[in-house]
Amino acid sequence: MITFSELGLDERLVQATNALGYVNPTPIQEQAIPVLLSGTKDLVGLAQTGTGKTAAFGLPLLHLVDESQKHPQALVVCPTRELCMQIVSEIELFKKFIPGMHVVAVYGGTSISMQIKDLRRGVQIVVATPGRLIDLIERKAIHLEKIKYVVLDEADEMLNMGFKEDIEFILQNTPEREATWLFSATMPPEIKKVSKKYMTAPFEITVGKVNTGNKNIDHQYYVTQSHQRYEALKRLIDFNPGIYGLIFTRTKIDAQTIAEKLTREGYDIDALHGDLTQQQRDKVMHAFRDKTLQLLIATDVAARGIDVKDITHVINYELPDDTEVYTHRSGRTGRAGSTGICMSIVHSKEIFRLRSIEKLIQSPFNKMELPSGKDVCRKQFYFFMEKLLQADISHGDYETYLPMLQEKFADITKEEVLTRVAAMEFDRFLKYYENAGDLNIREQKRDRKAFGDSPEFGNSRGRERDSRTTQFSDGDTVRLFVNLGTKDGFYKASFLQFILDMSDLKKEVLGRIDMKEMNSWVEIDKKAAKQMISAIDGKNFKGRRIRMNDANSR
Ligand code: AMP
Repeated sequence: MITFSELGLDERLVQATNALGYVNPTPIQEQAIPVLLSGTKDLVGLAQTGTGKTAAFGLPLLHLVDESQKHPQALVVCPTRELCMQIVSEIELFKKFIPGMHVVAVYGGTSISMQIKDLRRGVQIVVATPGRLIDLIERKAIHLEKIKYVVLDEADEMLNMGFKEDIEFILQNTPEREATWLFSATMPPEIKKVSKKYMTAPFEITVGKVNTGNKNIDHQYYVTQSHQRYEALKRLIDFNPGIYGLIFTRTKIDAQTIAEKLTREGYDIDALHGDLTQQQRDKVMHAFRDKTLQLLIATDVAARGIDVKDITHVINYELPDDTEVYTHRSGRTGRAGSTGICMSIVHSKEIFRLRSIEKLIQSPFNKMELPSGKDVCRKQFYFFMEKLLQADISHGDYETYLPMLQEKFADITKEEVLTRVAAMEFDRFLKYYENAGDLNIREQKRDRKAFGDSPEFGNSRGRERDSRTTQFSDGDTVRLFVNLGTKDGFYKASFLQFILDMSDLKKEVLGRIDMKEMNSWVEIDKKAAKQMISAIDGKNFKGRRIRMNDANSR
């Protein structure tokens, strides 16, 4: 694997990448950096956020720009204020060892006079949103005459947001422009037109397939009634206690009302939408980045350009109207080599839309079941136990209080203390989920046609799930095998309770239960067998995968 020192970059930049802990260049960096350093004028990079494209253009810019000349030489234009700030903060890190180099961010929604002052300090690199840049040009606060390098980042987003004329204006007003580098996740005809008009034989780089979703992302969908979306969302959040998630809605009113509702119910969430002032937006983003906010709910427009590390889940409260937007949404997780989950809550009438998204992302969707109330409680309970065991007690002066604690709890058993602690933590869940219903719309043949049969995705996980149809033997009952037994701490009654809880079935469906150390056999009404298998098979028990199937088919 190639290293940064082999790309031909200034030693000070290599030093900066080392300081950042970057070991190897990402594919787009490996391809773009040597080409841009070799004097290639124009470049089109088809890459999404998360591929490392900021460094792919940022490092060459810092290499090529002359820090002894105190006027703007490079201009990066991007769609949003957030992206603008992000690019600047990355460039700041890259230029750490080049003291004379200055970079400034100019964007709307904040005091222009401060930005004018910043520009007067003598900067070499300007990162701007189109509207504010034009404002500054018109006020003659920025001069583009000596700009040699123009980078258009997230060009497709800029065109989507109606900045086409602004971009053309900027390109027309950079007379000394030697090089134009355009980055875009997609390649709609308008981008092709811009590149044809303003670029000369651009060098093209495609990272992955155009429009291709990130392969580190598990794309899941959950089918429920439209009016149960909110409940379904809550269940998904509750079933993933360690979630650090970004939720997308189509409208700002949804984002706002859902955030308010969930906040009232004790969730750690805030909303990002177009009605917020810049100050409010900054506050929300700051809290989310700091992880003091566990969940952020946003509209597509408000979330443009947000790059937050380590997002574990993206949840689509509804599918986006525009299929391509799905790629932008899901791309917020599974970044820089990590894995992520993108969950979509869909109504059965929307399932056909998943098909076109699958084609676009070149990846199958996995149909998942919305967890039952009991599943959620169990999951929360395990999470809590883990938290309790991991609690750091090394710092506090707990020894001082120990005698007091011992005295206070002298007449209470350990079990009781634990139960009380658990009750404090989970009362909310237990009460809420006590009588919670099933939110799934049960599988229909139609869904299967739309997905499982899709030959291009071969032996996908979604397919495995669908193909798990058991051939039951004749008679009213069927015997199921399960790889759990007395060694797992079960006795007959607790095992019976466990399988009934997991599958949400009634005791009446069960017949004889035979338990051995390692395995058990369960006799069950033929009609209920499928439900029990799909609820239990593949689930985890104490870190082990449970296997349950028709004993006769083995
Ligand atoms: P970008 O596509 O520019 O938004 O970058 C996505 C994330 O990947 C950023 O948080 C970068 O800090 C990180 N990153 C970029 N290049 C590398 C690299 N070569 N090694 C590790 N992380 C990187």
